[in-house]
Amino acid sequence: SAKEAGKKGYKIFKEEMYMQKIEFIDMKKSLKHGVENNEFILYYQPIIDLKEDKIIGSEALIRWNHPQKGRIPPNNFIPTAEKTGIIKDIGKWTLETACTQYKNWIDKGYNPNKISVNMSAIEFRQKKLVKNIKGILEEIGLEKKYLVIEITENTILEDLDYTIDVLNELKKMGIRIALDDFGTGYSSLNYLKKLPIDFLKLDKSFIDNVTIECKDQAITKCLIRLAHNIGLQVVAEGIETEEQYNYLKTINCDLGQGYFFNKPLPAEEFVKILN
Ligand code: C2E
Ligand code: MG
Ligand code: MG
Ligand code: MG
Repeated sequence: SAKEAGKKGYKIFKEEMYMQKIEFIDMKKSLKHGVENNEFILYYQPIIDLKEDKIIGSEALIRWNHPQKGRIPPNNFIPTAEKTGIIKDIGKWTLETACTQYKNWIDKGYNPNKISVNMSAIEFRQKKLVKNIKGILEEIGLEKKYLVIEITENTILEDLDYTIDVLNELKKMGIRIALDDFGTGYSSLNYLKKLPIDFLKLDKSFIDNVTIECKDQAITKCLIRLAHNIGLQVVAEGIETEEQYNYLKTINCDLGQGYFFNKPLPAEEFVKILN
């Protein structure tokens, strides 16, 4: 009967919830363990100036080398890290590691340019965030002009005015800001008007079909124009083909990132392609 089927459905639902709960607790434990045991590693994906065809920096992308499960991509653990608050420790580690690496390269005479670091909404909301970032940079001795912080629309959504205040403080220190994955969330032109940002990162979903889809072309062209008119540089994410690269150049996209140039690279491989 429908009632029995309903009961059965409920039971399955409960079992699923139970499994998810166990997985969540397991993940939380191993994330904590991972932080303590240094199981995370940063890869660096070059960001290319499309006009000059040169590397103008990189984005630090985290990976987790789990002792049993092997390499885990960020999308599989960042959400749990956010829910559990462990993202604050991971974020601190990421910022310190990326900046230390950059300082090291600069001291050795390389010119790695800017380092972009992703920041979750939860990290962004921390009290003393600005002070902490300042402290980290000064202790490492990396000049503030090298750092770009990437935030997403989720961060803004929580509290626009607070976001503007924090970004203004970071900007005053000389740190640049990028709005990541633009166009996937609750994008609003109001944000673009109010936020003190430097870079707009067009999400890969616009780039995928930009050489064949009229609508993607219209949107991309229009966003690039708009961004330029309000003083922002545009980064195209996920450039995979030469056609995409050529097209984006013709419509004046400033910067690009993607497998067509390089996948995210381990530090020792990134530094090799710098010269
Ligand atoms: P994101 O910041 O938008 O990073 C770009 C993602 O696109 C990266 O995935 C990168 O490897 C991938 N990608 C770059 N070029 C191409 C391409 O041509 N084709 C395809 N298919 N993919 C490309 P990844 O490394 O798996 O990172 C996923 C997301 O995880 C990031 O998206 C970011 O939101 C988050 N994330 C990564 N590292 C950190 C971190 O240290 N802290 C925080 N809070 N989030 C991070
Ligand atoms: Mg990013
Ligand atoms: Mg992105
Ligand atoms: Mg993205």
